[in-house]
Amino acid sequence: TIIVERLNKNFGHSRVLEDVSFEITPGEIVALIGPSGSGKSTLMRHLVGLTCCNRDRGGRVSLLGREIQASGRLRRASRGQRCRVGYIFQQFNLVNRLSVLTNVLIGQLGRMPRARALLGRFSDEERQRALQCLARVGLEGMAYQRANTLSGGQQQRVAIARVLMQDADVILADEPIASLDPRSAREVMEILERIHAEDGRTVVITLHQVDIARRYCHRAIALKDGRLYFDGKTSELTDARLKTLYENAGLDEL
Ligand code: ATP
Ligand code: MG
Repeated sequence: TIIVERLNKNFGHSRVLEDVSFEITPGEIVALIGPSGSGKSTLMRHLVGLTCCNRDRGGRVSLLGREIQASGRLRRASRGQRCRVGYIFQQFNLVNRLSVLTNVLIGQLGRMPRARALLGRFSDEERQRALQCLARVGLEGMAYQRANTLSGGQQQRVAIARVLMQDADVILADEPIASLDPRSAREVMEILERIHAEDGRTVVITLHQVDIARRYCHRAIALKDGRLYFDGKTSELTDARLKTLYENAGLDEL
């Protein structure tokens, strides 16, 4: 599904990603870990085409069988193609003054005929499906509340319902639990794990907590100073490896 080949990215003189290569096959759940500033978010932004690689020796990125960038050139994805990738942000990115249900329905916009999408008119069938997506994240009872009346954990679950509505094959989540309390964080991780296990969707999650990566993800990709430091089973992330990865940070801090 996702192929990253010798990806290089500089911002001015600072090298943010260096020769990063990996492949993620359909249906995997992968944690992307590494210290602050190691390039995780930058890598995620490459996967959605928000950032482009260097022109010289930039490498390439393919997603769902299509090259989306190579040697400094971004290829614009078609509308249908864009729908297949869902993005979840640390700060949920809901439209506060709209209802929870409407926020979920927004996931459908890219799949609707353009004219109807512009009007934002949803069919009964689409509303039904949005309610089902909300039920999957345990929030069917909150469909008609304004989005900003929900707790952080609930808002993140709405964001997940929105990518379910979008029916994305690949879900990319950049620190989806970083601003949540431990219990909400667990709930969000459980939902992500479930949609990976039940629907076979590919899920890539950047995480700061290694214990959570170990519990919910089979595989981890670790970046250190923009280079690939580890790629393998989370069970093979030994304490010694983690100590080197996070350098001085005590493991109990992670
Ligand atoms: P964190 O865990 O804190 O979220 P991260 O691993 O996601 O960190 P990135 O946000 O990818 O790290 O940043 C990697 C490096 O790239 C940092 O040194 C950052 O300052 C630099 N960087 C990121 N975006 C830009 C930009 N648009 N312009 C210049 N430098 C940038
Ligand atoms: Mg980041």
